[in-house]
Amino acid sequence: MEMKKKVVVLGSITLLVLALVFGLSDLVTANRYSLAQAAPNRPDDGKLRIIVFGAHPDDCEIKAGGVAAMWAAQGHHVKFVSTTNGDIGHAEIAGGPLAKRRTAEVKKAAKILGIGESEVLDNHDGELMPTLENRKTFVRLIREWKADIVMGHRPNDYHPDHRYTGILMQDAAFMVTVAFLCPDVPQLPRNPVFLYLSDRFQKPNPFEPDIVVAIDEVFEKKADALWVLESQIESLWATGNFERVVPVPKEPAARQKRRQQVNARFARRNESTANKYRAKLIELYGEEKGKKVKYAEAFEVCEYGRRPTAGELKKLFPFFAR
Ligand SMILES: [Zn+2]
Repeated sequence: MEMKKKVVVLGSITLLVLALVFGLSDLVTANRYSLAQAAPNRPDDGKLRIIVFGAHPDDCEIKAGGVAAMWAAQGHHVKFVSTTNGDIGHAEIAGGPLAKRRTAEVKKAAKILGIGESEVLDNHDGELMPTLENRKTFVRLIREWKADIVMGHRPNDYHPDHRYTGILMQDAAFMVTVAFLCPDVPQLPRNPVFLYLSDRFQKPNPFEPDIVVAIDEVFEKKADALWVLESQIESLWATGNFERVVPVPKEPAARQKRRQQVNARFARRNESTANKYRAKLIELYGEEKGKKVKYAEAFEVCEYGRRPTAGELKKLFPFFAR
């Protein structure tokens, strides 16, 4: 008994010293913070779990920012992964400083969209390869997120990082269910539904959407999220190439004008998706609503994941109640 008491006393003293050293309030708040973060993101809470792979720190936001905000608003769990760190995507800066800047930008965008997580993999921009190591990274990320839905580029998109992100996503399909591949992370009991992000490339086959989502109600939020990707706005999105930087003005009126230009760019894109796939919108939303949709995002089911029925697809995209 004496010995046990001594241990208890010594333990208490150690805790007291630790509390004094680190600050008791910090320890308590740190603990509360981690609990608060963990609570709304439980894999068993009955909510959908979605992971989106984009090649650069802007692709997930551009192609799926609207649908992600809509899922998040219903309490579903969305994670964006940029498979490269975007460290050459600018006219004047490159390397570590650009990677850090772009990582901070997409994390800010994720907060605006209301999604749970945004991760940037530390692969060089323009150098992603469909290696076994990267395949295993995809498998682990999909399993750790316990994904019901996985999204990524098609393997005939224009940029090699987009294409190899598509290949890596395809290569992870089914393998996420195989127990003895990456046995350090438990396999998924069933293959998620894998979907391609939209693109406009025709060869060898054009994008054919299975699901087109009206994003009118969140378009402003998506535009707000894209507006924080300033390294893109001042460089590639300003000039279409990597020749020069056109800084975002600080003066309010000029800044507002620039913002409207950026908004208009993405409004056009999402409008053209809605118009191009109008028949699908009408099929999904009915004649009246389908005709009125202004902005849309579109997705195509990849054959290598689980093949959902039309009914299951509507459960995974719970936005079509009539
Ligand atoms: Zn990209």
